[in-house]
Amino acid sequence: VEAGTVWVSKNLASNWIPTMPQLFIDNEWVDAKSGKTFETYNPHDGSVIARVAEGDKADIDLAVAAAKRAFHRNSEWRLMDASKRGEILRKFSDLIERDQTYLAELESYNNGMVLNHAKTFIGGALSTVRFLASCADKVTGETIPSDGEVFSYTLRQPIGVCGLILPWNGPIFIFVSKVCTALAAGCTVVVKPAEQTPLTALALAALLAEAGLPKGVLNVVNGFGPGAGSSLSHHSDVAKVSFTGSVEVGKLIQQASGTSNLKRVTLELGGKSPLIIMNDADLNVAVPYAANAVFFHQGQICIAASRLFVQSGIYDKFVEAAVKYAQSIKVGNPADPTTQNGPQIDETMMNKVLGYIEKGKKEGAKLLCGGNRIGTSGYYIQPAVFVNVTDDMTIAKEEIFGPVQSILKFDTLEEAIDRANATNYGLAAGIFTTDLNNALQFSKHVEAGTVWVNTYLHFTPQQPFGGFKESGIGRENGMDSLLAYTEVKTVAVALPKKV
Ligand code: NAD
Repeated sequence: VEAGTVWVSKNLASNWIPTMPQLFIDNEWVDAKSGKTFETYNPHDGSVIARVAEGDKADIDLAVAAAKRAFHRNSEWRLMDASKRGEILRKFSDLIERDQTYLAELESYNNGMVLNHAKTFIGGALSTVRFLASCADKVTGETIPSDGEVFSYTLRQPIGVCGLILPWNGPIFIFVSKVCTALAAGCTVVVKPAEQTPLTALALAALLAEAGLPKGVLNVVNGFGPGAGSSLSHHSDVAKVSFTGSVEVGKLIQQASGTSNLKRVTLELGGKSPLIIMNDADLNVAVPYAANAVFFHQGQICIAASRLFVQSGIYDKFVEAAVKYAQSIKVGNPADPTTQNGPQIDETMMNKVLGYIEKGKKEGAKLLCGGNRIGTSGYYIQPAVFVNVTDDMTIAKEEIFGPVQSILKFDTLEEAIDRANATNYGLAAGIFTTDLNNALQFSKHVEAGTVWVNTYLHFTPQQPFGGFKESGIGRENGMDSLLAYTEVKTVAVALPKKV
């Protein structure tokens, strides 16, 4: 495929984007069967970037059929050595590195992600691909000491065609994490990017083709949830769906599995993550961490520490410093290297966040700073800090997905653990303390898939990531995620006599 020549440009200013990005099916760039397209925007000013091919059920059917052919037992992909799969992923990582400036600019342009953060995410994507490249030939079965005259062992085999449904908040990182895990395991994939951010997935598809991925192994179908997404989650030839997004849609994906073929489902959903600051914490460290934990990427991260519990002994001092910090955050054009916060993804999300801020005020929380829209072009919100927040308020219960820090007061660690767990979510949690007992007590009893002690947002590709309760099912990243793209098969070979 000559896609690399279309997409891979190191000079953003020069003809860097096709006027009508197509779908990527069976290593070919194609229009949607219906001929439909949709507009994609730049959240900085709401301007249209491009019209993108809009896939639907017919295109999903073609993509799944291509992925199914590529998964046939005699296909190039199925007969390829696992180490060679690892080599392709390694080459892919080198191509990401080659084009990192272009990719970061495209991500920032389509998502509103601050350029520096887009670079950080691409750094994370790079180490993730490299980790997975090294895992491809390390997926092994076991020999089983079975009773009787039998020799038995297990095979760990790729699960089949996987549907990967992506959210808009971390398009490159989440694409890389899901796709490369599936490919390292030997699966074939159909990717449905979020409709808000259709572009970087296509650029990455071109790089995977350039890295030597055989025909049909990766397919990318842009489109909307109820059309393309729903068709993928209901498709009977799809063996697994891995989904990242809202709890509401996660439940639909689970239902689609139940009403179709009981496909395996991995869900990475929302959160209302608690961060606990104990009296003995070092405020010079805890204040900036707590701010970054909720304001990073304008609060549009599933692990945002949107319930900040501060112990009563340091509450007033902490609040004063937190407000100062929030007021110092520079909000502006994501392309400016000095910018710390960019725009929300779109007008709908901006209005949703502003609605939560209004509700917070109405329900009796005190807004100490920020919370207003900035300007009239683009979707910018000044980082907000609320105090006097109580557990029953909407801003303490629902995921806001915006730059809103809600500070709650507590007296004892026992109380903090109970209140931290009083939610249907369970994605992440954190604690700042210099007392090891506090840290271990909290880590053991908080209901969350990841717990950070004296840090937050600390990720590495080796660590499994996912949620308790309604924050998800299964894990992404690490070997746990890779194994979830495999089936275990037991083989029992009868022997004439016991050996
Ligand atoms: P969303 O659930 O609306 O959309 C996510 C994806 O699902 C999109 O690609 C969308 O087109 C698709 N979709 C929508 N309806 C569908 C349907 N009926 N069938 C199949 N697919 C459908 O979520 P969003 O607004 O894109 O993302 C924000 C949410 O994602 C937040 O709740 C956030 O917490 C969560 N999130 C979670 C993680 C995590 O790892 N746990 C990471 C990022 C985002």
